Amino acid sequence: DRGLASWLARRASFDPERVAMTFGERSWTYAELQHEVEAFAAALVRLGVRPGDRVAFLDLNHPNYLLTLFATARLGAIFVPLNFRLTAPELQFALADSGACVLVYAEPFAEAVEQIRDEIPCRAFVRTPDDEAGELATALVESGPPQEERFVDRDDVALIMYTSGTTGRPKGAMITHDNLLASIHGFSLTFDTRADDRTLVVAPLFHIGGLNVTTLSAFLNGATVVLERRFDPDRVLRLLEERRITTMFAVPTMLVEMARRPGFATADLDALRLIVSGGAPVPVPLLEQYLARGIDVCAGYGMTEAAPLITIVPPGRVLDKVGSVGLPSFFTEVTLVDDQGREVPTGTPGEFLVRGPNVMKGYWNRPDATAATLADGWLRTGDVGVRDEDGFYTVVDRKKDMIITGGENVYPAEVEACLVEHERIADAAVFGVPEPTWGEAVVAVVVARDDAALTEEDVTAFMADRLARYKQPRRIVLVDELPRSPSGKVVKGELRTRYADLAL
Ligand code: ATP
Ligand code: MG
Repeated sequence: DRGLASWLARRASFDPERVAMTFGERSWTYAELQHEVEAFAAALVRLGVRPGDRVAFLDLNHPNYLLTLFATARLGAIFVPLNFRLTAPELQFALADSGACVLVYAEPFAEAVEQIRDEIPCRAFVRTPDDEAGELATALVESGPPQEERFVDRDDVALIMYTSGTTGRPKGAMITHDNLLASIHGFSLTFDTRADDRTLVVAPLFHIGGLNVTTLSAFLNGATVVLERRFDPDRVLRLLEERRITTMFAVPTMLVEMARRPGFATADLDALRLIVSGGAPVPVPLLEQYLARGIDVCAGYGMTEAAPLITIVPPGRVLDKVGSVGLPSFFTEVTLVDDQGREVPTGTPGEFLVRGPNVMKGYWNRPDATAATLADGWLRTGDVGVRDEDGFYTVVDRKKDMIITGGENVYPAEVEACLVEHERIADAAVFGVPEPTWGEAVVAVVVARDDAALTEEDVTAFMADRLARYKQPRRIVLVDELPRSPSGKVVKGELRTRYADLAL
């Protein structure tokens, strides 16, 4: 067994003529895809890549991305996808931390790469054009297959995937071939991925949601991956209709943008059987917009460290528990515990602990963080959740973000969900600031909808009979924009620092 690449090779031998991937006007059958993977692997060997070496990749979505991933896996080397929204110093950190020996990057990132070139360990650089047409990286495809067969142990690391960096510096999660297998199987069993599926891949591939959810299971099941360079809501709506897309993964912000387009109401979405979402809370009003269009939006709760699915709403069960993140996904054990590590009863919030073949091997270069996170065989997620009497889970919030005011626990996510129900509030973030009497005080920053007049008093009045007194923000600050991480999540730490001295 040679891990991920050998599973793709098996699929190619079963279904050589089936279309594996399309990108713009181009398409590749499984046989063609497999041929390119071999050529890319040979080129990586020429660039000096040995088993265990790290190959970093920096571009928007492109066929080169997936080919480099499979080729790297074929050699028993480690693929390191980089977030294209990172700044040069952030890229420098990821490249130095991972010790990548090869960097494949696209034209638009040339300036950033030039800036850090002398500071990073890469020995070989492959520059590809900013390309909508799907031209393959020629520097990587000149020769035939690598001569030697390399044995890849399934416990070998296939990916170093950096976490989003919402709560601090990103950490490189070591995802093994076995982790990928568990994730692919779990996904296929849950969503019945079939060879006649057409999966739209428009979420960025540097994110575990974009790479693992739908994409890899589509390939191994012989389905067709419709790869898109970037997210454009109008184009996505058109593609869903024209290409008869059956499944896709989308983060909640993408769902918001699609629902706002005029085409949302009119597009023919009959073929679309399922959208999988997650990575952040999927607001119930948003979910309802899709349900009204007859589309199942299955929310999942996951994290990079779990490759990523932890819980998932099974297809057709969305209406059973609107707002829940569903049931533990296949092969994954989930429990909720209190601060002493004791299991909490139904209905009581506790920290999610996760165990299973999808859980990472550890953090690259971070034995301290690994020991703190992978204790006693469980992955400590740092997220708080609740299980109901039917076994369905709801994500409450991150443990780190919980506010303790006068001895009461306040979960910012609950207050945020209430704030965005106000018709003139577009976006909101809630956090705690130090306060002498109560320990912490609840503070909210809100963004008004376009040209809506909104005052602190309006919002206070709105919250008055909707939330218990102690949960109501003491101050509501109007801002133009929330501080977000490169993956679009609100950076609470930055808000806490910025408003530490706010007059209460
Ligand atoms: P870092 O670990 O670097 O601080 P991060 O935790 O945001 O960043 P990811 O692995 O991309 O990095 O995100 C996983 C986190 O996203 C989870 O731990 C959880 O807090 C949040 N999350 C994921 N899915 C959901 C969901 N459906 N609802 C609410 N929160 C979610
Ligand atoms: Mg995290």
